[in-house]
Amino acid sequence: MKITSVRLGRISVPLRTPFKTALRSVSSVEDVIVEIHTDCGAVGYGEAPPTGAITGDTTGAIIGAIQDHIAKTIIGRDVDELEPLLQSVQKCIVGNSSAKAAVDMALWDLYGQLYNIPVYKLLGGGRKQIVTDITISVNDPDTMVSDSLKAVARGYDCLKMKVGVNPELDVARLSAVRNAVGKDIVIRIDANQAWTPKQAVKILNKMQELGLDIELVEQPVSAHDFAGLKYVTDRSYVPVLADEAVFSPENAMTILQMGAADLINIKLMKCGGLYEAKKITAIAEAAGVEVMLGCMAEESGIGVTAAASLGAALKNITRADLDATFSLKELPYEGGFTVKDTRHLILSSDPGLGIKCLKKEMLA
Ligand code: MG
Repeated sequence: MKITSVRLGRISVPLRTPFKTALRSVSSVEDVIVEIHTDCGAVGYGEAPPTGAITGDTTGAIIGAIQDHIAKTIIGRDVDELEPLLQSVQKCIVGNSSAKAAVDMALWDLYGQLYNIPVYKLLGGGRKQIVTDITISVNDPDTMVSDSLKAVARGYDCLKMKVGVNPELDVARLSAVRNAVGKDIVIRIDANQAWTPKQAVKILNKMQELGLDIELVEQPVSAHDFAGLKYVTDRSYVPVLADEAVFSPENAMTILQMGAADLINIKLMKCGGLYEAKKITAIAEAAGVEVMLGCMAEESGIGVTAAASLGAALKNITRADLDATFSLKELPYEGGFTVKDTRHLILSSDPGLGIKCLKKEMLA
């Protein structure tokens, strides 16, 4: 199975309601789609949303990195040499993690098709499904209560609350939501880098003092402030999960050697795909630290399928925040995974990622 071409397309799908965090507001999904074509007719699919505020990757940069660097490195090569191919994708250009992730997942898709096996089985095959939380956008306390109650009524039992906009409101937000949903619903929070280390400790310990029972806090402080992250981890009763701080296996190793976080979040768009994500999971497991698998709010489903495949495959991935497709007005693809009981993502038994029939606009 030889790679003959790498084609790029774009999709644009409106969201049901805008997604708001301390870093940004998003109203539609605008993804770059990657198709890797082969001499036997098999096509591998990948995707990369531009998330400049997090990864620095814009649409133009994703397209340029793939067309001018990554495609040239893989065209003409055999899908059967998977690991050398995945290494070439990582090494042919620095940065550009989203472009690398899109090509990486398309290569795994093809490798699965070559050997007639689903990607979640290739990666370890621990389970066929994974349970996701649901994200509640940051808003005033009343709106967050109403959004949380709607989510619980739909069947979600784990809410991920975005906080950090007007931090003085964060304790009030969480108190209101905890009172409304009761004590059986798991609540995790995500500050998306909004707090200073001292502010974070004050807010988190206030939440603990009030008995709000927060499962974990994601990225309380600035992504590059590893010392600040450690400061919070050392002083907070709420477990700290490093998200925007972990873009690579090297970041994960440094953070875990420092004891700067209690948990690690992996997103394929941050680390450059499944190949690097597997390394981060192994590093975390060796350190006795569990992993949460997340995705960008702008992923349309191919990326979520790839992430869910890894999450289902590996035991040390104990949490999933893979709810991106639930907010799309329509799905631009068929296959990948199905949703059962609102929050269970069940992977397809089809070879590769099992993605079919994309409603996309191909780029010239
Ligand atoms: Mg996060």
